[in-house]
Amino acid sequence: MTGLAARHLHALRRRDFVSGDALIDGRWIAAAQRDPVVDPATGEEIADVARCGAADMEGAIAAAQRSFTAWRELLPANRGAILRCWASLMRDHSEELAILVTGEQGKPLAEARHEIAYGAGFLEWFAAEAERTYGETIPSHKPGCLLQVRMQPIGVAAAITPWNFPVAMITRKAGAALAAGCPIIVKPAPETPLSALAVARLAEEAGVPRGVLQVIVGNPIELSAPLLRDTRIRALSFTGSTQVGRLLLEGAAATVKKVSLELGGHAPFLIFDDVDIAKAVTGVMAAKFATSGQDCLAANRIYVQKGIYGAFTDALAAEIAQLKTGHGLEPTTDIGPMTKVSVAEKCRLQIHDAAAKGARVFSAEKDEGLGPSFIAPTLLSDVTDDMLIAREETFGPVAAVLPFDSEEEVLARANASEMGLAAYVYTDSLRRAMRLSENIEYGMVGINTASFTGPPIPFGGWKQSGLGREGSRHGIEEYMELKYVCFGDLAG
Ligand code: NAD
Repeated sequence: MTGLAARHLHALRRRDFVSGDALIDGRWIAAAQRDPVVDPATGEEIADVARCGAADMEGAIAAAQRSFTAWRELLPANRGAILRCWASLMRDHSEELAILVTGEQGKPLAEARHEIAYGAGFLEWFAAEAERTYGETIPSHKPGCLLQVRMQPIGVAAAITPWNFPVAMITRKAGAALAAGCPIIVKPAPETPLSALAVARLAEEAGVPRGVLQVIVGNPIELSAPLLRDTRIRALSFTGSTQVGRLLLEGAAATVKKVSLELGGHAPFLIFDDVDIAKAVTGVMAAKFATSGQDCLAANRIYVQKGIYGAFTDALAAEIAQLKTGHGLEPTTDIGPMTKVSVAEKCRLQIHDAAAKGARVFSAEKDEGLGPSFIAPTLLSDVTDDMLIAREETFGPVAAVLPFDSEEEVLARANASEMGLAAYVYTDSLRRAMRLSENIEYGMVGINTASFTGPPIPFGGWKQSGLGREGSRHGIEEYMELKYVCFGDLAG
């Protein structure tokens, strides 16, 4: 598989998609120093990107501020038209963008294509939302007064985005910010800068004005410091680990920025013994192995009621045995490499810990020969609450199955986590589904489905899984301020 990603990148018609130059104030910056971009499957260098520094970020903040007035004064319909054009260019270039995503992130090409469509969908959604930021008129509590609430753009926004959805996590944030009338500066993950920069080229072609969208690559700590301390940055949106989210929240406190955080998950997946086992297995396969398990919605604790425990684990093992690990650009691949070797190491640690504490381990393939970033799809059964995998997020293709007896018991175990992003419940009982959906402490709940994300839903978590919501009609609120205006003395 050596050279596969490099060959695909070399064959791209859009050579500018692999230039690796950053976009600052309407100019493409090569920078004196460059950082490598590697194919995570092989560790081979496939491109290099500009290494921007703090001074570049300061320039970008000034450029964003300069662009703000003209952008916010455009009619919402005109901002929406630019967003729709950007989405349409993404769809036109879907194949090239997908190759970039797979080349630097590693996910199978079919999933990368899906991500481009998913990402374009956020731009289309927010193009429409731009025209729906209505505000309110409040029945007055004072004689002769008219009370209005307006929604206004907050100012310059910044986004720090992850490597697992390197395109969609940018459009979900930038679509909302631009629709609201805010310029945004994006700092993508260093592992996946090429797709971010390619999408920025399409934004420019769609008519996003100079300074309104900028994409800056480089060292995360060096680039985030000016963002955090500058009072002109009014909103900060982050997707990534809870650990970094905490640091950014702390850093943003000094200038009291509006912060939205989409952090780690540790999703419980509850399966009761009244379900169709085949449907539950299909749900678990989707919720565990999509994006090779590198998904904050991934099922991390699969609780199965004892009556069907044996039959369920056998059926799940049979499905896992069908999964094929390999390079994301090979058409037969279901599971690609982990984008970061550190994520693969965490998976290995969790597998060893579970095995040492008595879990049964079933792997579809042998890891040997695949390379350090690969984890063969693995089933851990008889997992107990004291094992690492039951206590922390995995972010890889390792399915942990835990038996349970009663609804009361499994609800308490599902809620016994500081994470609260997504949860899944499979049951044929409507009453039980209603009870659990009410009492489970998670921001998003799938009942008898493992597929629920998309532009119309409020994506976000409870507890230490985050703050605020992305997508839906609420997503745009992260980039807006309410203004209350009281008109008095109307009687004259
Ligand atoms: P991370 O939080 O370190 O990286 C996410 C983003 O934050 C990247 O853009 C990175 O460059 C930036 N970043 C890192 N350190 C920073 C700092 N000190 N200041 C400012 N920005 C910083 O995530 P990771 O280490 O690459 O992945 C580790 C774990 O995080 C994963 O195993 C997973 O549990 C979680 N994660 C979650 C998501 C999600 O979708 N919620 C995405 C990626 C990672």
